[in-house]
Amino acid sequence: MGADVELVSPFVLEYAYKRSTGPVIGRFLTSLRDGRIEGVRTAAGRVLCPPVEYDPDTGEDVQDFVEVGPCATVLTWTWIDAPLRDHPVQVPFAFALVQLEGADTSMLHAVCAPREDMATGMRVRAVFRDERVGSITDIAHFEIDTGVSKDLVPNEATEPITRFKAPTRLEYVVAAGATTAEFLRGVLRRELIGRRCPSCEKIYLPPRGSCPTCGVRTTELVPMAQKGTVTTFSVIRIPFEGQVLEPPYAAAHVLLDGGDTPLLHIVGDVDVDLVRMGMRVEAVWAEQLEPTLASVRYFRPIDEPDVPYAEIRGHV
Ligand SMILES: [Zn+2]
Repeated sequence: MGADVELVSPFVLEYAYKRSTGPVIGRFLTSLRDGRIEGVRTAAGRVLCPPVEYDPDTGEDVQDFVEVGPCATVLTWTWIDAPLRDHPVQVPFAFALVQLEGADTSMLHAVCAPREDMATGMRVRAVFRDERVGSITDIAHFEIDTGVSKDLVPNEATEPITRFKAPTRLEYVVAAGATTAEFLRGVLRRELIGRRCPSCEKIYLPPRGSCPTCGVRTTELVPMAQKGTVTTFSVIRIPFEGQVLEPPYAAAHVLLDGGDTPLLHIVGDVDVDLVRMGMRVEAVWAEQLEPTLASVRYFRPIDEPDVPYAEIRGHV
């Protein structure tokens, strides 16, 4: 790989959250699954839909559930004709604030109607999906009310909805930047190259373009030893979404000899119960090198005496 090739990589940050609903939202979602729309009535007599958990006027709990809709009035809308990624409604359609019959507040949903028929004040009706799971998208969309309701496909589920999936996902492209790109090009030559701060003389690995303590540029490149010491570690025994390695495995901070910052990596070729602070290890390279730290498959123990805790204490 030439030095003029920019190192970029797709990156996904994702949290596969499941959230509990609480009693009010849980009942709202359960009703949607059953093909009904419910709001809550406040002490002052206003009906809020979607429901909220506390009366916005008094802060009191709300417990008086009221069925609303399925007809509604469009309060305002915006036309969508460019496809939306991962959106369940086919374009074109309108995002609209719809006020369900019997409610005093409005909610955002999709209205499917010809562009020329869209109008503020128009009457629409909720269209439920045949398969409903307890989600706001159990209402497929709203359509122009013709005064005729469609038969609802019954749902056999009876358990109340208490949890729902709320994944958060960000996809973007990361450019390595000059300092990291240089480090990753070293990895392609089986070298681990740190950078030294000219002021405090700390050696950073992975390298940093500037010293976070002194705030000055780190200009000196320092090829590092490929042996080091486990300063702290954790044994992962529990599976989780997106996990690359099979548990149990040991993740460790490895302080390479001569360096001042530990590298987070895997300790392999050893029973995880034998991994310990102070253990001496060396890098094991993959046969196929790529410009990522995965080119170091893991660190494995070497036959050297452990480093006493006092010598690594500052790095734990
Ligand atoms: Zn410094």
